[in-house]
Amino acid sequence: MQSASFPESRIGPLILPEVTEILISLWKVPPQQRKMEAQRILGTERDNLATKYQAALKDSRRATIRSVFEGKALDQNYPSPFGQQWERLQKPLTSPQDWGSCKPYEPGNVTADVLAFYLSGQFTNDTPRPGYGVVFCASNLGRFVEEAQVDGALTISAVAVHEWFHGFVEATLYPRGEVPVAGFRALEEAAANRVALDWLTTCAEADSSSIEKLEQALFVSSKIAGSPGYGEFDKVDARVPGSVPDLVSSTAPTETKPDGYFSEAAYRPWTSSRAYHDQILWNGFLAGLQGETIPCYIELGGYS
Ligand SMILES: [Zn+2]
Repeated sequence: MQSASFPESRIGPLILPEVTEILISLWKVPPQQRKMEAQRILGTERDNLATKYQAALKDSRRATIRSVFEGKALDQNYPSPFGQQWERLQKPLTSPQDWGSCKPYEPGNVTADVLAFYLSGQFTNDTPRPGYGVVFCASNLGRFVEEAQVDGALTISAVAVHEWFHGFVEATLYPRGEVPVAGFRALEEAAANRVALDWLTTCAEADSSSIEKLEQALFVSSKIAGSPGYGEFDKVDARVPGSVPDLVSSTAPTETKPDGYFSEAAYRPWTSSRAYHDQILWNGFLAGLQGETIPCYIELGGYS
C-alpha cells in the first residue's frame, strides 16, 4: 500500500491486550453487522488513542519545561516509544510509505503470517519507519477463529509470539549493522513457529483442550500440508533465538534451510556470548508481550 498517509482502515499503536479486547468484542457482533462495527471501532479507538497519547505528550512537555526552570533532570522518559510513534503518524508524511498488506486467506493451510504480519522498522538514522510493528489482520483472524473453532484470545497471543520473533530478529541484527534478508526465509519461519508453539504449550494460560486445538489448527496443519518453513518447526529446537538471527542475516555466507539447522547452527553458536546475549534478549521480548515492546496495529480493511 503506497500512500503518504497512514491507512484509514488501521488503528494503533496498541498493546497486545488492547488488540485482544477490541477483536474479541468485534467478533461477538453478528457477521452481518461486523462491517458497521468495524467502522465504529475505527472512530472510537482513534479518539481513545488521541486522548491517551495527547495526555502523555502534554505531561511530557510540562515535565520538560519544569525541568528547565527547576534545573532538574527529567526523571521520566516521555513520551513513550508508542507515544512517539502515534505522534509521527498524525503528521503528513513527505513520501509514500509501504504500509504492508494482509495476505489473502486460503482455507486449509493458514499460517501466522496470514493472520498478522510484521512490518519491518527499516530503521533509518535510528528511527523506525512510521507504522512499523505487528499488524493484526482482523477479518482473516476472525475467519480462522470461527472455522477452526479455536480460542480467539489464545490465537491472537500465539500469532503475536510468531510475529514478535520477526521483530526480535530485526532488533538483534540492526545494532550490529546487519539486516535480516528481506522476503521469505524458511528457517526464520520455522524458528518463529517453534517459539510460538513452545509458548503455546508451556506458557499459555488456557485449558489443555484449547491449547491442543490451536496446536493442530495453526502448527500441525502446516506440517501435514508440507508448508515450507511454517511446517518445519520440528526441524529446529528451543535454541533458535541464539542462532537464527546470524543465519538469516544479509551477511550470512549461504542461506541455511531448516534441514541444515542442526549441522550448521544449533551447536556452534550456542556456546558463543553473542548467542547467549540473543537468547536473553528474546526472553526480554517474550516478557514484554503484554506491554509497550513492539507496537501493534489492527487492520480492519477486510471488513469494508
Ligand atoms: Zn512469519
